[in-house]
Amino acid sequence: MIKGGPSLKQERNLITDIPGPKSIEMMQRRKKAVSAGVGGALPVFAHAAGGSVLLDIDGNTFIDLGSGIAVTSVGNSAQSVVENVKEQAELFTHTCFMVTPYEKYVEVCEKLNQLTPGTHEKRSALFNSGAEAVENAIKVARAFTKRQAVVAFEHGYHGRTNLTMALTAKSMPYKHSFGPFAPEIYRMPMSYPYHDNRSGEVVAREAISKMEKEIGANQIAAIIVEPIQGEGGFIVPAPGFLPAIAQFAKANGIVFIADEIQTGFCRTGAWFASEHEGLVPDLITTAKGLAGGLPLAGITGTAEMMDSVHVSGLGGTYGGNPIACAAALGSINEMEQHNLIARAKELEQIFRDGLTQMQSKYPAIGDIRGKGAMMAIELINPDGSPNSDLVSKVSKYCHQNGVIVLTAGTYGNVIRFLPPLTISTQLLNEGLDVVEQGFKAAS
Ligand SMILES: *Cc1c(COP(=O)(O)O)cnc(C)c1O
Repeated sequence: MIKGGPSLKQERNLITDIPGPKSIEMMQRRKKAVSAGVGGALPVFAHAAGGSVLLDIDGNTFIDLGSGIAVTSVGNSAQSVVENVKEQAELFTHTCFMVTPYEKYVEVCEKLNQLTPGTHEKRSALFNSGAEAVENAIKVARAFTKRQAVVAFEHGYHGRTNLTMALTAKSMPYKHSFGPFAPEIYRMPMSYPYHDNRSGEVVAREAISKMEKEIGANQIAAIIVEPIQGEGGFIVPAPGFLPAIAQFAKANGIVFIADEIQTGFCRTGAWFASEHEGLVPDLITTAKGLAGGLPLAGITGTAEMMDSVHVSGLGGTYGGNPIACAAALGSINEMEQHNLIARAKELEQIFRDGLTQMQSKYPAIGDIRGKGAMMAIELINPDGSPNSDLVSKVSKYCHQNGVIVLTAGTYGNVIRFLPPLTISTQLLNEGLDVVEQGFKAAS
């Protein structure tokens, strides 16, 4: 069968029904072997992937508008990532950085310190998953402030481990039946312009007043927020909301944590989404787009905070695995070489043009929002209520017609687009045409 990587032809080509016979067989095998608790968007098994195309085991190729949830931003099996991984795997696969350190871990931390917002002195630490990074950011904030309370927001998503489940807003499927949750977590109102029609300042004032009255500003260790909410439905808070919250944190000795696990690494047309409103977070969590598909996550923050933790307080067996670090250096190299920040901005324009045209024909598209190559549509019924049914229909149509799209949103009524930043204009437009056909077929 054909190989993946840059040589995989960038086209959509279906040669069987979706799912094809081999995928159907594998789905049956999966059902007997894999826990039913692990979900799945498409009933299709991957054989190879390259750039913005995925080849399934039946020989069908799909346009990838999901990047494995914002991970393969530099394209699947990108050249520098694959080369670095191969080279590192032949040198050594693991030593444990806490046993015998290696250069690539340090180099990734140097890159994170350099690329994240702010020119102050910074330190980083590496982990395996986004949730693990969030947990460690909270550990640092609590150790530094000697306070316990942590503030998260409505519609927020921060992971599936016990502490991060508590930080995550949505019950089904993330929290349902998995309690009890970690204590000292408080949820505050989030600016959601399409729903609340209020200015960022007004919502921030409400959140700040609640924090002062219900928790006490001097009890709060950290405020954690996604600058653009991911799983919550690509909610871009109204301008002024985030700066006001960050200002409140600064004034009260609260650690301001930007969870940029989904928004980071060029995804929104900047290295980090915090930059759009000039935010300089105290701590920033990264993962998804960082390492071109290998599991790697980081926390980066002020030297003062990051060095306030006792020696050996942070770590883990695999954190900053050398192959994952090599992949991250390859991935960052691709972003710099191909100016993927600029490309993300171009992709935003293509999305806006295509989706606005679609909206004029299909009023079920209530809102078009996002930044860069992190765009979404929120679907509504004629009375304005969430239309999750239509989301299922359109996304299923896309999947059956060779386009991978993902859904999101507290009300399950959002289709989100996260293509590799390297996708060609032609392939993206073809993908959007299929989405439009999905609306046509559903109405
Ligand atoms: C995906 C995500 C996480 C969790 O990352 P995992 O690697 O799945 O643990 C946390 N925060 C945000 C904003 C995310 O998008």
